[in-house]
Amino acid sequence: SLAGDSGEDLEVRKRLGGLLAPGNDEGSCISRHQTYMYRKSSPHLPSKYLISKLRQYEDRHRRCGPFTEAYNRSIRGLNSSPLDAISNTDCKYVVWVGSGGLGNMIISMASLFNYALLTNRVLLVKHGDDVANLFCEPFPNTSWLLPEDFPLNKQFDMFDIKKFDGNSSVSVKDLPSFLYINLVYEDGVEPYYLFFRDETQTYLQGFPWLALKSDQYHVPAQFMMKSLEPELNRFFPDKASLFHHLSRYLFHPSNRAWGLISRFYQAYMERADQRIGIQVRIFGTKQSPFHLVLKQILSCTQGANLLPKAEYNRCKASPPKHQTSKAITIASLYPFFYQEIKNLYLMNPTVTGEVIAVHQPSHEEKQKLGDNVHNLKAWADIYILSLNDVLVTSAWSTFGYVAQGLAGVKSWILELPGRHSVPNPPCRPSTSSEPCLLLFPNYNPGNLPPYIKNCEDAKLGLKLV
Ligand code: GDP
Repeated sequence: SLAGDSGEDLEVRKRLGGLLAPGNDEGSCISRHQTYMYRKSSPHLPSKYLISKLRQYEDRHRRCGPFTEAYNRSIRGLNSSPLDAISNTDCKYVVWVGSGGLGNMIISMASLFNYALLTNRVLLVKHGDDVANLFCEPFPNTSWLLPEDFPLNKQFDMFDIKKFDGNSSVSVKDLPSFLYINLVYEDGVEPYYLFFRDETQTYLQGFPWLALKSDQYHVPAQFMMKSLEPELNRFFPDKASLFHHLSRYLFHPSNRAWGLISRFYQAYMERADQRIGIQVRIFGTKQSPFHLVLKQILSCTQGANLLPKAEYNRCKASPPKHQTSKAITIASLYPFFYQEIKNLYLMNPTVTGEVIAVHQPSHEEKQKLGDNVHNLKAWADIYILSLNDVLVTSAWSTFGYVAQGLAGVKSWILELPGRHSVPNPPCRPSTSSEPCLLLFPNYNPGNLPPYIKNCEDAKLGLKLV
């Protein structure tokens, strides 16, 4: 109930602590206006500086966004050298090209938006049919979608950053005004190392257009560059809530996704005293036998007192009324865990007398790349997870990272499941709600700032805490 909230508090809550600009069009993005009713208010407040920068960013995006005069001029300059092109415009762009599943896409889009904020660029995203209509437009009165007729849409790799080694003799004059950089780790690590260097960042300032293909959460690497760190510190005095703020700012479920999410919430979560989300990501069904993973989940949740133990072999009906109830939402590609846990609490009473309801929004069986409805269900699962009070998520899963970050809670991270036994401990509490940058092998552990630590699930990965 919102009774007791003063008008002003409510207004701030609705706008997520000031993250969202006032006066958005309600009909086109219902979730933006309703989310606050489905979540506890966040304990993390964005800084005033971040809020002022977001408003500046929105102005810039409106001024430079697709089909504006500035954009059209910049497109015409694509064939000139960067020196000519940059002197003809004050609008600079960075284009996001995604890779991997939805979790990877969301964390990398958020990283690139952070980069755009820091470097005064405009973020445009190349969304294929597979992600069409999952998200609302995040910036008021403009679009973040790269237009279909963007002239270089089909030929991104015109100039590869691998050709630039920091001391390169290639003169900027000889280059096109557009630079495509592939940061996907599997495709080679060199560009990755090169990109996150201060010299490279200085060099890149000369390009009006950058396109980055990426699938990771690069924000910790952004903090490790001297040229970006001071401004980042002003944006985010509290590092551990960076993704929480940016993800709630950027990713609003489209009306289609919101319908699914809000109906599930009302049917299965709303009336519970406590909501617990469990995300079970299996990276290989052979390496992770289901019965062991089930044991691990129960050992984790019962060990951490999230779920009560079942009282086996006792025929005790629950007292009829006023029991505390817990709603468990399982997100997984498979129905197995949902069926087993539901059965457990139907067949046996709990030692505490609590009533446990178990639900699962979807079970797709397989990861399907390039499928729009599949991605819609994945997005709904992620968002529904994020509406829980407590989360249990899977190690190494960007899907779980996004749910955790949107929720702004520290989840219990299930260790990578064992092939022959349940890991001990089965899970451990996350040190912050930030995603882990899973791959960053090229750093000096002695040089890390105090707010960057190794991840609890990926020993070489880095996260903000
Ligand atoms: P990660 O591989 O765990 O880091 O997460 P990604 O989201 O990048 O890729 C996994 C993809 O598999 C998702 O985007 C979905 O397409 C699918 N997937 C995995 N787990 C689930 C789940 O619990 N629910 C749904 N609906 N899809 C899932």
